[in-house]
Amino acid sequence: VELPIHEAVLGGAADRGDLPALIDGTDGTTLTYAQVDRFHRRLAAALAEAGVRKGDVLALHSPNTIAFPTAFYAATRAGASVTTVHPLATPEEFAKQLGDSAARWIVTVSPLLQSARRAAELAGGVREIFVCDSAPGHRSLRDMLATTAPEPDLAFDPAEDVAALPYSSGTTGVPKGVMLTHRQIATNLAQLEPAVPAGPGDRILAVLPFFHIYGLTALMNAPLRHGATVVVLPRFDLDTFLAAIENHRITGLYVAPPIVLALAKHPAVARYDLSSLKHVISAAAPLDAALAAACSERLGLPPIGQAYGMTELSPGTHVVPLDALHRAPPGTVGRLIAGTEMRVVSLDDPHKDLPAGEPGEILIRGPQVMKGYLGRPDATADMIDPDGWLHTGDVGRVDEDGWLFVVDRVKELIKYKGFQVAPAELEALLLTHPGIADAAVIGAHDDDGNEIPHAFVVRQPTADGLTGDDVTAYVAERVAPYKRVRAVTFIEDVPRAASGKILRRQLRERT
Ligand code: ATP
Ligand code: MG
Repeated sequence: VELPIHEAVLGGAADRGDLPALIDGTDGTTLTYAQVDRFHRRLAAALAEAGVRKGDVLALHSPNTIAFPTAFYAATRAGASVTTVHPLATPEEFAKQLGDSAARWIVTVSPLLQSARRAAELAGGVREIFVCDSAPGHRSLRDMLATTAPEPDLAFDPAEDVAALPYSSGTTGVPKGVMLTHRQIATNLAQLEPAVPAGPGDRILAVLPFFHIYGLTALMNAPLRHGATVVVLPRFDLDTFLAAIENHRITGLYVAPPIVLALAKHPAVARYDLSSLKHVISAAAPLDAALAAACSERLGLPPIGQAYGMTELSPGTHVVPLDALHRAPPGTVGRLIAGTEMRVVSLDDPHKDLPAGEPGEILIRGPQVMKGYLGRPDATADMIDPDGWLHTGDVGRVDEDGWLFVVDRVKELIKYKGFQVAPAELEALLLTHPGIADAAVIGAHDDDGNEIPHAFVVRQPTADGLTGDDVTAYVAERVAPYKRVRAVTFIEDVPRAASGKILRRQLRERT
């Protein structure tokens, strides 16, 4: 039987009764599985009573809270497609997303209400703004739980009905609305679960945002489907994060590379008891093998597993199975999951398949490939070819045993005098320098108009004597001449998206 996403995730929730589903990592408030089940059904009834109809778009605008999942599944049960919004979006950015998705409803939280109201005003078309907590003049989801309205009894077509409408991160261009059907999301959960099984007793820390597809899948849908307990933090702060691991005896972490970096390098880590941790999975951006090893060794854990995916892939295609963490070669992002096909093709000729070991563009075909970009048939056709292959825009290679290695994005490769240089490789190398706290590399242009690798470097607090020449010399000793870093700028912070990706556009503006 094919189920809509709220059934696929919460189908077993009522039977789990008093098992804690969600714990607020800041104040300890707990929602049991029985509560999540009851609350999302009541709220679906209340949303339907308020006018939410099948096919409406509802914008969910909230940092991670224990109410977020309830609001999400209530909205889908009421028939809405949920477009998740970055809580720090400016009113203008938010308005664009509202307008582009033709959203009719907003669910927000009181601290963000002003921004939501302004966005709704700018966009037009929003019928009502609800708040999760409470705010004068707005209906509160908490109060709406008291409704006596009947639960909506809708017929879903999981293959066609859009459950989630996340916007891609906008790392490489304007964010686009990605239409993901109930079937695509539910199928991908089922495809991933044999590799990363979870269950009652597992305690997952949700610090990456639910609004991004990685957090939505790994920190919300998957653990709640399996009866794990999710400890929720609204934002990343290293001490709060480490304290939460210790206090809640967290067993599994799903993180992005900047958190791996902090765990590997930050002195604060030594002050906490992190012995409950069993595994750490990283995804969403390139993670260097040496950094990953430094992190797992420091924490006394099995090697860090990686996963690979993108919003347009609901989101996963590759993961290192938990039972293969020791066997997987360092640096791999994992093995292809069941029911999915992959090709690696030449960057010059997408019809030419490459043999194992050779890097080329990664193409994916499978049930998790998005329905399309909302309202952008041309962009969709650019991405998904007539045979159903999605062109990821990522460069990768597969070894003889089927392990995938992601080199970098096609668009980020720097062409130095005809040679291709992957910024991710140089960034990883820079991070091995003891005086470097963080680094990013982009293609810039020298005075003759040649593209060159330009490094942006954050010094360790203890390394204020580190010079640009030190940095270029360090790299020059370790790479082929064409890969040398040829310009260095020291900065305070590497700008990153919520998903951990380096915002190279912002760095480009500084050259
Ligand atoms: P936009 O498409 O709007 O420019 P985006 O591609 O950053 O934004 P996401 O869908 O969040 O938006 O990110 C998917 C991308 O993240 C992939 O295409 C890939 O480049 C990168 N990525 C994901 N997992 C990994 C990984 N394990 N290693 C390296 N890169 C990864
Ligand atoms: Mg993308």
